Amino acid sequence: MSSILLFVFFAVQAQEINLDYYLPDDYTYDNSIAKPSSILGFEVGEWHVNHTQVVQYFTTVATQSPRAVLINYGTTHEKRPLLMMAVSSPKNIKQLEKLRDEREGLRNPDFKSDVQKMPVVMYMGHSVHGNEASGVNASLISAYHFTAAKEIEGDLENIILLIDPAINPDGINRFASWVNSHKSYYPSGDRNNRELNEAWPRGRTNHYWFDLNRDWIPVQQPESKGRIAQFQAWLPNIVLDFHEMGTDNTFFFQPGIPSRNNPLTPEKNFELTDKIAGYHAKYLDEIGSLYYTKESFDDYYFGKGSTYPDIQGAVGILFEQASSRGNLQENVFGEIAFPFTIRNQFTTALSSFEAATDMRVELNTYMSDFYADAKEEYKDDDLKAFIFGAKEDYGRTFHFADILLQHNIQLYSLEEDVTLNGIPFKSGKSFIVPFDQPQYRLIKSLFETRTTFQDSLFYDVSTWNMPMAFNLNYMSLSSRILNLAKVENVSQGLTFREGKVIGEAGANSYGFEWMEYYAPKALYKLMDLGYQLRVSHEVFQTKDNKKFGRGSILVEKGNSEKSDQTFYEDLKRIAATTGVNIHALTTGLTSGVNLGSPSISVLKKPSIALLVDDGVGSADAGEIWHLFDQRMEIPITLLPSYRMSSADLNRYNVIILPTGNYSVLGKKEADKLKSWVQSGGTLISRGSAMNWLAANEIAVFNFKSPEYEETDAQKQYADLKNDKGSKVTGGAIFNAKLDITHPIGYGYTDANIHVFKQGNQFLEPSGNPYANPVVYTEAPLASGYVHPENLEMIKNKGVVQLSGKGSGRTIGFVDNPNFRAFWFGTNKLFLNAVFFGQTINSASTR
Ligand SMILES: [Zn+2]
Repeated sequence: MSSILLFVFFAVQAQEINLDYYLPDDYTYDNSIAKPSSILGFEVGEWHVNHTQVVQYFTTVATQSPRAVLINYGTTHEKRPLLMMAVSSPKNIKQLEKLRDEREGLRNPDFKSDVQKMPVVMYMGHSVHGNEASGVNASLISAYHFTAAKEIEGDLENIILLIDPAINPDGINRFASWVNSHKSYYPSGDRNNRELNEAWPRGRTNHYWFDLNRDWIPVQQPESKGRIAQFQAWLPNIVLDFHEMGTDNTFFFQPGIPSRNNPLTPEKNFELTDKIAGYHAKYLDEIGSLYYTKESFDDYYFGKGSTYPDIQGAVGILFEQASSRGNLQENVFGEIAFPFTIRNQFTTALSSFEAATDMRVELNTYMSDFYADAKEEYKDDDLKAFIFGAKEDYGRTFHFADILLQHNIQLYSLEEDVTLNGIPFKSGKSFIVPFDQPQYRLIKSLFETRTTFQDSLFYDVSTWNMPMAFNLNYMSLSSRILNLAKVENVSQGLTFREGKVIGEAGANSYGFEWMEYYAPKALYKLMDLGYQLRVSHEVFQTKDNKKFGRGSILVEKGNSEKSDQTFYEDLKRIAATTGVNIHALTTGLTSGVNLGSPSISVLKKPSIALLVDDGVGSADAGEIWHLFDQRMEIPITLLPSYRMSSADLNRYNVIILPTGNYSVLGKKEADKLKSWVQSGGTLISRGSAMNWLAANEIAVFNFKSPEYEETDAQKQYADLKNDKGSKVTGGAIFNAKLDITHPIGYGYTDANIHVFKQGNQFLEPSGNPYANPVVYTEAPLASGYVHPENLEMIKNKGVVQLSGKGSGRTIGFVDNPNFRAFWFGTNKLFLNAVFFGQTINSASTR
């Protein structure tokens, strides 16, 4: 008996953490607010809190405290609620909506707000990266402290906190579940410990393995959509972004590297960040924690949480705590414990609170001035608007317009056809963004092309020109043209326009063109219903002069045995949901080719396996999964790499290998894949998967390595980091030439195309000139940073290339056509490989 008691005693003691460890001295707390441990059943830092427990605690506190109210702003893919808690004085909480609506005056001078009186708003975003858990766990202490501490009652009159405990609930849960299920009561910080080595795909990302901290500009994920809507409604002055970095570090807070600020961000933003940094230093000094600033991380790409606010009159602040990535981990300082990481994060919440309350008027004035200055800049600008559109594709145009609207950008739909500098902009498929609006600077950044830079190192991409990512036509307009165009204001929202069936039921064939973004979705849905689907490799035209380009799809009842009316209803429904117009074809005697032509291939329904798990790049794989599951509504198998040797591959006719390190696959797997291709499979590969295929002679791809000329015998050691870094291609946009007569190019009407490139992979074009449907041009750089020697290497190299074996084909994509789900402009190249790969003439592939 006594030995059992003793055991229990030590088990508790080994885990002993007390709330006082986190909380600052000299505060007294309201007893009516529940402490986290009373809800969780353990002290913060003892276990990794899961999302349900977070929701439970925040809901409890919001119910108990007159200082707090919960705001539900969305739902994740895995159906977890997205919540944030507004904390302020009880008086402010009672009139919260009014206080929020008054914020609009900071952005719009017509409203006029009283910057002297307005509260400051501070948004606190935790653990956008789910496996950086100190953030979400620290949010519990913040929730307790800011609702229960008696001494801050007066301060709360002047500040509204928006505590978002969990930006990425699905990732947070994945990680918490991993660590908790491997936790020992007597922890081992050995880096080999399973607890500290998360399984693929790890918890950093959301359900589809997207990095949500790159999605603040593209807003393609539900977590971002909800959060950006809140940002635009609240216009916070300060945005805190709690992260973790490598284990052998201390603590980082912004400012980051000064020379890597985005040039569109005012200098004053950097000064304010620096001033706030003084508060963090003071607070961290008090608890004896080491930290650093200005030596790493940057504020260049506006799609990150700490940078997005900088182009909107706010100040974004990045915190990076060295990670314990579990409960305890050995590091260069000895060891790092989870509670220690939580305490540092919470301490900077306290320092930020003091900075925000001290600097309230200064921060509100700064935001007001930011928009007033932007207005002056607009007046000096000779150009007054952008117009954009794709005459052949409503879907792509719609999705770009949707992004602009999410950022509270005013937008007008073009209501008549116009041709500008020879480029047609179609009514209903084009939009105009006037510059005379508060978001002028953000608009500039979304349409900007830049090829010269102050620094040659980037933490992330160096460009994000949206019309290029969507491969849309766009141009800037003078005031004269802007005032002439007939437009309709669509700033309040836009609904996707449905497609329709043109013609009657009972036609033998129906046809639709391939240009619409969702044409592949329509194709798959019709295949799935058992109809016969064919693709035309030649152009044809009906008697009433409706022209169908290459890649147009023909639908017949085939062996489906459905009635004419059912067939027609199916077509109508699918046209409506995809935005594709489907035409009844009453005779097979079309001009160009006839509808029974041998140039029209019968299509097999794709049965797709996407390789995932160890060795595979999860971001690349996730983007492909998301494209099929969320956009095209096509089921795919996520095939774990370790099942490659045992799985029956014959049930798939398309296998996709994302970029990755394929050393996990051996000769057995390589031989199996080779014979699968030989017997007619379509193998689609991305990035470094192509190297593996080439090395295993499954496909022929020749890569060139850059040879950087070294002329100096001695270089300064201090320059090493910058020298190496400048050769990294972090992400830039390039011009390429697309063969629009090739099945990979179907649906495109312009041979000039923009592609996104990350990394230094340079593919020699195939000796067979028909195997190179996409190559870089002679002058490839469109926007972004690339080292001059790499730029030389890129010229005329391959972007998409084919290789044949037996009766199958391998299609290699050097660059990512699905980047972060906002490169709508190149998705179709990838989908063409999936649907039309089977029809590509094998003489063109070897
Ligand atoms: Zn992070």
